[in-house]
Amino acid sequence: MKKLLLTLAITSLSFINQVSAQEFSEQQIKQTAEIRNNALNSSLAYDILTSLTTEIGPRLPGSENDPLAVKWAQDKFNELGFDKVWLEPATFPAWRRYSESGMILAPSKQPLHLTALGGSISTPKQGISADIIYFETLDELIASPKNSAEGKIVFINYKMNRHIDGNGYGPAVKARSTGAVEAAKKGALAFMMRSVSTAHHRFAHTGGSHYQDGIKKIPTVAIANPDADQISRLVSLKKPVKVNINVQAENLGEGKTFNVIGQFNGTQNPDQYVLIGGHLDSWDLGTGALDDGAGVALTMAAAKYIADVKRPKRSIRVVLFAAEELGLWGAKAYAKKHKNDKHNIVAAAESDFGAGFIYGFQSSVDAKSLPVVRAIAKQLSPLNIKHIRANKSSNGPDLIPLRKLGGLAGFSLHTDGNDYFDYHHTADDTLDKVDPVKLQQNSAAYAVFAFMAADAKTTIKGK
Ligand SMILES: [Zn+2]
Repeated sequence: MKKLLLTLAITSLSFINQVSAQEFSEQQIKQTAEIRNNALNSSLAYDILTSLTTEIGPRLPGSENDPLAVKWAQDKFNELGFDKVWLEPATFPAWRRYSESGMILAPSKQPLHLTALGGSISTPKQGISADIIYFETLDELIASPKNSAEGKIVFINYKMNRHIDGNGYGPAVKARSTGAVEAAKKGALAFMMRSVSTAHHRFAHTGGSHYQDGIKKIPTVAIANPDADQISRLVSLKKPVKVNINVQAENLGEGKTFNVIGQFNGTQNPDQYVLIGGHLDSWDLGTGALDDGAGVALTMAAAKYIADVKRPKRSIRVVLFAAEELGLWGAKAYAKKHKNDKHNIVAAAESDFGAGFIYGFQSSVDAKSLPVVRAIAKQLSPLNIKHIRANKSSNGPDLIPLRKLGGLAGFSLHTDGNDYFDYHHTADDTLDKVDPVKLQQNSAAYAVFAFMAADAKTTIKGK
């Protein structure tokens, strides 16, 4: 009986080993470990990020730096030895910021630290001076009586909460996106908001905003959080608060730019590929180190770490999306162009949430692909990355248009975003905010994920 039990135990053990051996051989697991270790000991990702943020700096689509960034990315892919490097065109609504300033005029003169939101029209040369009308939320503005803001500057003081997964961003960004439209509907001269930010510093946070056909366009700005607190205190004194805002900017019509793509070809199924990447563009205020130079650098480096150890069965494709900040324009162009060959994407993940430690790995795949996902998760665990088992990850912003096509095998490598919105879209998004050690861990995680997804026996499929 003892012997039988022992035999059974041995049989079931070897059965388990066979199941995992089916997906990845011992040699593949060794190669994975080698890739992971190399990434953890390499400065390549940080070197790439230093090069991008120093030699190019800010990368607003349509600016002089935009074509320089495209050229930089092509050259960098070639320098790293990618097999194929190419461009795919994208168009976007071009916009330029020239100057901006603000002042509290009454009840006493005080500086007001502001920045124009992307797409904002200009104020007259002398700016707009008017009393503000105060709202806590966008919904409060929407619910206010018609003409409530006639002749005034609308101010929304919505406070974003801090969270590891950035869940405060969605609710806060609503005011940035449509605040100018809702304010104009109530007769406002301009729209002003507390920054979409968790910071205490005096930098204002820019970001995308929209106008609506048929609704008057008014200048739209965000102010630094301490300035928002100051205005809030002044309002509570129940005296009129008058401000001057001055924005000189220009909408320049349709601009043209490019997604820049580099690929290491697979050895068995080169048409099939794992897509990793970030967005090449950034706002104009900082040098776009966290958003999204980090994503660009760490995925370029990840592909190189893989190719240095072994070319997987399927290709590794790094896509550097264009004009994300102005509305996912490169991502939309990519989805449109690859609509008919989207089945070739076996797995996709974008890094666009800074470069804090990655703490979680999550999939959105069909049930048959879950054993591969578990095998990948096991090789991510030495990096202190937990497998988040809910099989419904939401992926990066540039994967949204691809996901909308249906069937995308999307993955999230969740980054600790506790301090991401302290710097996001500000002049303070610079290289010194990126920790080289955290960047190594990020790059190692992407390399492990992309290598295993590209070299697995089973082809991963989306839901
Ligand atoms: Zn971004």
